[in-house]
Amino acid sequence: MRRAVLVFAMTLLVAMPALADQLPATSDRIVDYQMKVALDPAKKQVAGTERLTWRNPSMTDTVGELQFHLYLNAFKNTTSTFVKESGGQLRGDRMAGNAWGWIDITSMKTAAGVELKPALRFIHPDDRNADDQTVVAVALPEPVPPGGSITLDIAFTSQLPQVFARTGFKDDFFMVGQWFPKLGVYEPTGMRGREAGGWNCHQFHANSEFYADYGTYRVEITAPSTYIIGATGVRTHEHTNGNGTTTYTYEQADVHDFVWTADPDYVVVKATFSATTDVTPQEYQRIAALLGRSLDEVKLSDVEITVLLQPDHRPQAQRHVDAAKAGIKWFGLWYGRYPYKTLTVVDPAPGAGGAGGMEYPTFITAGSTWLFNAWPFDRIRAVEAVTIHEFGHQFWYALVGNNEFEEAWLDEGFNTYSTTKVMETVYGRDRTMMEFLGITLGEDDTNRLSNTPNATFNRILSKAWEYTPSGEYGFYSYTKPGLVLGTLEGYLGKQAMARIMRTWHERWRFKHPRSEDFFALVDELTGQDFGWYFDQTVRGTGILDYDIGSATSMPVPVPAGVFDQAGGRKTVTPEEARKREAEAEAAKKTVYVTTVVARRRGEVYFPVTIAFKFEGKPAERQTWDGRDRTKRFRFERPEKLEWVDIDPDRRVLLDVNWTNNGRRLTSDRRVSTSWASRWLFLVQHVVTTLGLL
Ligand SMILES: [Zn+2]
Repeated sequence: MRRAVLVFAMTLLVAMPALADQLPATSDRIVDYQMKVALDPAKKQVAGTERLTWRNPSMTDTVGELQFHLYLNAFKNTTSTFVKESGGQLRGDRMAGNAWGWIDITSMKTAAGVELKPALRFIHPDDRNADDQTVVAVALPEPVPPGGSITLDIAFTSQLPQVFARTGFKDDFFMVGQWFPKLGVYEPTGMRGREAGGWNCHQFHANSEFYADYGTYRVEITAPSTYIIGATGVRTHEHTNGNGTTTYTYEQADVHDFVWTADPDYVVVKATFSATTDVTPQEYQRIAALLGRSLDEVKLSDVEITVLLQPDHRPQAQRHVDAAKAGIKWFGLWYGRYPYKTLTVVDPAPGAGGAGGMEYPTFITAGSTWLFNAWPFDRIRAVEAVTIHEFGHQFWYALVGNNEFEEAWLDEGFNTYSTTKVMETVYGRDRTMMEFLGITLGEDDTNRLSNTPNATFNRILSKAWEYTPSGEYGFYSYTKPGLVLGTLEGYLGKQAMARIMRTWHERWRFKHPRSEDFFALVDELTGQDFGWYFDQTVRGTGILDYDIGSATSMPVPVPAGVFDQAGGRKTVTPEEARKREAEAEAAKKTVYVTTVVARRRGEVYFPVTIAFKFEGKPAERQTWDGRDRTKRFRFERPEKLEWVDIDPDRRVLLDVNWTNNGRRLTSDRRVSTSWASRWLFLVQHVVTTLGLL
């Protein structure tokens, strides 16, 4: 999903072994969905059938119950957990009071024809809200043995809500997401650290997304022939029914969800990402060297891009295509080839902004306004940022299928980090977000914006619905993880980090990792223990802030007073001492004593580099493990200190305040802090004070 920061921007106008994991060719295909559904645009309903086959992935557990998500019931009435948690608002969008959404299972039969509908019961695994109907369990007449399978024939009707949170209709625009009875994930013992096997099937929460198993989908969608349809996967068949409707068949393997859209007004823009002309041989070579992989391993494949655009956004067609290509190229080169043949990019209808900025397998929604059609507003990179971010979820969500309910940072945070890198690669650092009338703003700037000294009440590793207040979800799932990974990159270096991210993707493609798997991978590939880092920044609540407590550089005083000497006592008067000091200075023989106290203001410790610049000398660097609260540095040397600066390359992105990192002893007391970061700190404070983020 898109970042709160972006919405804010839019409304504003180490050496390591080259241990190559192979990209798996397919997922283990635990589920198979064969659906036949029809859209009734007048009733705003989708009705149809679902033949579901599920394979018990456990080698030991006999499973006697299935659990399904019925997400549309989140919009059924005001007693759902979703509405209670969100107050009927999400991402700045408000729920329509008169267009409820719901989903009914009208029949569920076993292959033997046993009707299971009477056995359906709503369950509430996350809270005690007995009124919530977003998860349903069904006891099976015959349990499924280890490795065995079951096939069910399900009939269902989905009433779409007016678009509010991700899904629904707006006039004759339809975004059909989270719309069918969808199995949760059966996690066998040991999977994601489980001590006993069981279903992982959370209720639909305001701040949570999705988690499902990989498999195959074949969906026949019937809609009035005047509608333009887009969906997950490849359109394999199209048939005009002779009654004013057309049936389109879409198929896709190795995905964990299926979404589709319908709108008669879409402008269809087609383009092809070419693995041979959109990437140069030099780029392939450079990436292969960076990653320690062969040229074959980094080779991409062609992708058919379809942009479904609103008619009044026609001038932005190429922007959408270019952004999609940038995503396919750079995410693919760095993390592993995008394996699907298609990508559909949807520009939602005006007034359906709630459907924008979302990710589904092979299908993303962006969002724009006619304002971005022309100069100067075309330089605000909202279209690019949202398209690349949502595309990034093809890697962190679709291909690496973390549990978004429980560990959202593994997709939103990884995506914030990697989207920043793509934006910087394509548009240049410091100007990724906008070049607007001379003002430039980079991704790192915007990510650092909300990391304030006050951000100490939550942790990254929380369940999505447990952040307090719930608005903190955005900062802890997107922004802070982006800074945590960016800071780690600053410490390990670009190549080491690139190899970690690559291996993470290769090893967990089509699988369900958890945070511990990432921590273990970093340790494995670096040969070091990074528990100290992740404990503080992902599991902990502290902030990171280093500053200069004091810095002085004074001539070593010539001693005054009474001194015992071989020839008897000698008295040096203060006047004589000062005179000798002046003589030494005139002869340029003064020795200066320089004392600097660096301080750790936050709870989080981190090794830092400190640069000392003495007169007439190049800056010299020392390192500090950053553990104690203060560290004193003392020098006696013939040069005076000009300035001192902690983390002079500004690699520690997690530092909540860069304006206090340096001290200049001559003239301006602040040092090497660009006006931009001072401005940023000011904005941070204004924004925090106003409670905007
Ligand atoms: Zn996202």
